[in-house]
Amino acid sequence: MPAVTTAFIIGWLFILGCVVGSFLNVLIWRLPRGLGMDQPRRSICPHCEKPIRWYDNVPVASFLVLGARCRDCTGPISWRYPLVEGLTGLLFAVIYWRQGVQVGVGADQVTIMLLVVCLLIVGSAIDMEWLIIPDEINVFGLLGGLAAGFMVPSLHVGAAPYHTFEVLTGIYRLDGLIASLIGALGGGLMVVFFAILGAVVFRKEAMGFGDVKLMAMMGAFFGWKFVVVAFFIAPFVGLLYGIPLLVLRDEHVMPYGPFLSIGAVVTIIFRSELTLYLEPLEHLAATLLG
Ligand SMILES: [Zn+2]
Repeated sequence: MPAVTTAFIIGWLFILGCVVGSFLNVLIWRLPRGLGMDQPRRSICPHCEKPIRWYDNVPVASFLVLGARCRDCTGPISWRYPLVEGLTGLLFAVIYWRQGVQVGVGADQVTIMLLVVCLLIVGSAIDMEWLIIPDEINVFGLLGGLAAGFMVPSLHVGAAPYHTFEVLTGIYRLDGLIASLIGALGGGLMVVFFAILGAVVFRKEAMGFGDVKLMAMMGAFFGWKFVVVAFFIAPFVGLLYGIPLLVLRDEHVMPYGPFLSIGAVVTIIFRSELTLYLEPLEHLAATLLG
């Protein structure tokens, strides 16, 4: 593809991501409060409850123009709004550039990666404020991951020993679904194992059932190698964030979902490089089973 076209798509995806991020902000506000998408129909200022004008609802830009204040009551607007919008835009652009352009995966795979990033952003933002990841994200995500495995088996291509099932059944899509199921089980059980280990060794509950479901969902989307990598990146991010917090504010309660999510996003961006290290393990499994 010509460089101009690539640059155009990347720019377009950044803008699309900012607009999608604006919708994610609505979910982040409404899901934990049990509000449907039509209550109220339009977004309102949480301080004065006046509806937000359409021209004050432009992602990132409106926040800057308004100086982080509501036009009507001058009540403060949370930094979360432009952050979520800008981050979604940035990740849309970066993931397309890395996976779509550099690695060369298909548009179907890139689309699924972008959808997963949306789920992770909403889940993390809610987890940071409420210390829960809603089932709307986890359960929907898990089912979505299994459906994606069936519909886009290329997400799991090369995932030995699953290709053996194709030989048995002759159904390529079934391989994707099986790889997806193994990923979901692997991801969930890995968190359960380390949560129990942590509880025994440190006598402290570090991870919750929400994290189990989150990693099961990631395994369903991208397979077991993916979750192993993402799971072991998370504590490094967690330490970078947690140690200053512990020292400065004596804060011990910390949601783990956002760190697992950062681990997952890093793994989406550098997937082929990071999972390479796990290939010997996979060949061993293929030899044993094949
Ligand atoms: Zn207001």
